[in-house]
Amino acid sequence: MARLLARAQPARERVLVPLRQDCPGCGGHMRLRYENRRTLVTLSGPVRLRLKIRRCEREGCARHRVPYRPEAEGAVALPQHEFGLDVVALVGVLRHQEHRSVPEIHAVLLGRGVEIAERSVTNLLDRYDELLATSLTDARRLRRVLARQGRAILALDGMQPDVGHEVLWVVRECLSGEVLLARSLLSGTAEDLAPLLAEVAQAIGVPVEGVISDGQTSIRRAVERALPGVPHQLCQFHFLREAANPVYEADRHAKKGLKKGVRGVRRIERSVEGGQDVGAEVALGYCAAVRSAITDDGRTPLAAPGLKLKGRLEAVASSLDRVLEKGARPRRSRGSGS
Ligand SMILES: [Zn+2]
Repeated sequence: MARLLARAQPARERVLVPLRQDCPGCGGHMRLRYENRRTLVTLSGPVRLRLKIRRCEREGCARHRVPYRPEAEGAVALPQHEFGLDVVALVGVLRHQEHRSVPEIHAVLLGRGVEIAERSVTNLLDRYDELLATSLTDARRLRRVLARQGRAILALDGMQPDVGHEVLWVVRECLSGEVLLARSLLSGTAEDLAPLLAEVAQAIGVPVEGVISDGQTSIRRAVERALPGVPHQLCQFHFLREAANPVYEADRHAKKGLKKGVRGVRRIERSVEGGQDVGAEVALGYCAAVRSAITDDGRTPLAAPGLKLKGRLEAVASSLDRVLEKGARPRRSRGSGS
């Protein structure tokens, strides 16, 4: 069956930048060289990822011109996958813990706004099962890749769907982008996580050069225990993602309120349209400014849309105040202020 649902163009965009700047091969600086884009379907809607790619430009370096992708990419999605890891984790929990059938899982996903064909649910289930079956001991290809690199940079992420209690833990290797190990666990204490890291470190056959995570205490302790002395870097992306949720909600609420205050722009435009005087022109200009402020979505969390709107409306209002002071009174345009 062909896909019946056309993909909506994502309204959200997320820029991911590699944390690491020094080349794992020669230690030289890796510059941002280009950008990759990919579109993902996640539980919070479609998102366009803009991935900044670094590269070592030093001739003779073992990693000369080898792309270094943002470490956080693998925390959001598996390589070459259209659906986010959060969707995969949810599908797995619904099937294996809640014992739902494929049509039931399909209905749950549609109910949550995930555009997906039923056939794709089956594919996601296969992917989930494959993920949990990932085993380093018999992955010869993977070991060859790692041996060529001569080192590994690990990332550990926990994905907790909002149903059930299990957390999907994924250990990845950042230079190759490969998933090394995935387990579904009922808890994520240091005692649970240290063995995962130890198992990986033992199986890969190359030294672990560093670990990247969101820095939650249990992960930090697990790294200390399983890989003593290995540097552990916090991922700003994870950190921000966690910190951003309450900010995002509060900001969304504030933006709604602000927008209410500037309804009626159309009414003002209509009342001055066709007018030949300067006043009409000025009023239309202000209306356009308000309109463009409303449609500017910003980027959470660093450029929160609500705060941005507030700034822009304040700029419009103070400009109007200045105009009034000078006496060139634009007709009724105060009504469009905040
Ligand atoms: Zn290099």
